[in-house]
Amino acid sequence: MKMKLSNRVKAVPPSGIRKFFEMTLGMEDVISLGVGEPDFVTPWHVREACVYSLEKGHTMYTSNYGLIDLRKEISNKTKGTYKIDYDPESEILVTVGVSEGFDLALRAVVDPGDGVLIPEPSYVSYKPCTIFAGGEPVVVPTNVENDFKPNAAEIEEKTTDRTKVLVLSYPNNPTGTVLKKKELEEIADVVVEHGLTVISDEIYDRLTYEGRHTCFSALNGMRDHTIYLNGFSKAYAMTGWRIGYACGNPEVVEAMMKIHQYSMLCAPITGQMAAIEALKNGEKEVRKMTDEYDQRRKLIVKRLNETGLACFEPKGAFYAFPSVESTGLTSEEFSEGLLKEENVAVVPGSVFGDSGEGFVRCAYAASLEDIEEAMTRISRFVSKIDVSSEE
Ligand code: PLP
Repeated sequence: MKMKLSNRVKAVPPSGIRKFFEMTLGMEDVISLGVGEPDFVTPWHVREACVYSLEKGHTMYTSNYGLIDLRKEISNKTKGTYKIDYDPESEILVTVGVSEGFDLALRAVVDPGDGVLIPEPSYVSYKPCTIFAGGEPVVVPTNVENDFKPNAAEIEEKTTDRTKVLVLSYPNNPTGTVLKKKELEEIADVVVEHGLTVISDEIYDRLTYEGRHTCFSALNGMRDHTIYLNGFSKAYAMTGWRIGYACGNPEVVEAMMKIHQYSMLCAPITGQMAAIEALKNGEKEVRKMTDEYDQRRKLIVKRLNETGLACFEPKGAFYAFPSVESTGLTSEEFSEGLLKEENVAVVPGSVFGDSGEGFVRCAYAASLEDIEEAMTRISRFVSKIDVSSEE
């Protein structure tokens, strides 16, 4: 018998990133600028802390909220960096990555039919998770002319009396866009005016290359409107450890904890132990990795522009988002052709929303040598298109 699946799940296509990742499997000599994952290994002292915790026999469940020592470190970090105070007892929940945090946040606040504003291009999970939570995704398209920044007026225009949530995610995946404090303050006015809840995914907060990151919940009046999400995957090169956290007022954190308690119990203790060490002693490596990403960023943007793929300057995360319009190919045709002919994996911008069409995402979480080689291949691929279109 064929099992009957839920219509809600059937309505959501599988992740477009995954499709390209799977195409690379079994291929040799592929340079991947496809997956949004640091190429660094988790710093040794963090791995060592984990090994030591296992040797000491820390293999149990933790509190549903997460280890209190980790919550205290998260509270210190948030206070030290953004001057915003979250009580480790009641206002911080340790999650299985930001991915779980995002899902919990939506499920804690969204009722069937509630509108969730999502500026696009955006991270691929936001729309599907909204649908799984019973909400209605409402896209706020952005464009390259404005460096893919949503502005307050555009957000307000899409807001109706059904709108409950605004998703913000800066520095942004896939564009690398960062919003300035003033731009965020203008959005904050709309949030107050319409009583919105903001889910702010700030997983790339440490990866900014010009100026300091502004934490949305630290803006005047935003603490009570915001569920602040962050994690260890990107800044500490800890994707496989699956540790993130959510901060907010006690009611919303308790509501999220309730779902987490029944579905997940707790985040893995080994990862939590490692995360404590990362927060206590990981600063030097974070800075080193960020400096390295910055060098790669400059190289890739320069080479893409030289190749004729116009690329605006990303100010954060580790993605460049060049236009491929000059080639006459769609973003999917470009990505497939590049992979088949030159063994370079990038992700078509269309998987991040309709406004991503005409662009491709190149993750520069790869070594300088690999980026150089990938750019040589991309350049060859583009010149071949030029020649064939002249024939
Ligand atoms: N949020 C954004 C914007 C991301 O780009 C990613 C991963 O690429 C995630 C969340 C997932 O993070 P985690 O590994 O903490 O679940």
